[in-house]
Amino acid sequence: MDILAHGLWTNLMYKTIPQTRDNRKITYWGIAFGVLPDLVSFTPVFFYAFYASIFLQQPFFAGPPGNDNPFFEYAVQTYNYSHSIVIWAAVLILVWLIPHLFWKKGAGFPWILLGWALHIFIDIFTHTEAFFATPFLFPLSGLKVSVISWAHPVFMVINYSLLLILYFIVIPKFRATK
Ligand SMILES: [Zn+2]
Repeated sequence: MDILAHGLWTNLMYKTIPQTRDNRKITYWGIAFGVLPDLVSFTPVFFYAFYASIFLQQPFFAGPPGNDNPFFEYAVQTYNYSHSIVIWAAVLILVWLIPHLFWKKGAGFPWILLGWALHIFIDIFTHTEAFFATPFLFPLSGLKVSVISWAHPVFMVINYSLLLILYFIVIPKFRATK
């Protein structure tokens, strides 16, 4: 999904969890983790495409520059790690579960990592094999789901309509009854 929608859905998730609802710090860091998987993977190739469009006269977003392009290759490789629920779980076990069980008993759950998990979960169903289908079980399995592209106009309209309804109708109503 696009980065803006990822950020908006992540914010909504934190607003619905009792433990994070009133915690701005967790929400902001969680949103950062909610957009980081794409920023990490696509920022270099984005700037390369920008550079190539100006200095190499290549049309911007004319399609992937090809597997021999190091920036594109970097995006492909890092996407495996940034969009895997297995890698996410491994990080959670390392930074929280093991310390929690052995020497930091009672350590609070790292809610900010949920933003990352939500990002992967959404991307599983909003990419097709034509553009970065999500390798959510990497490196255990190469299984990918090909549903609908987040860039499909119908998906865009439905997605942003839902976000508009939630942000401008549902949340204000919920706040008013609180
Ligand atoms: Zn993504």
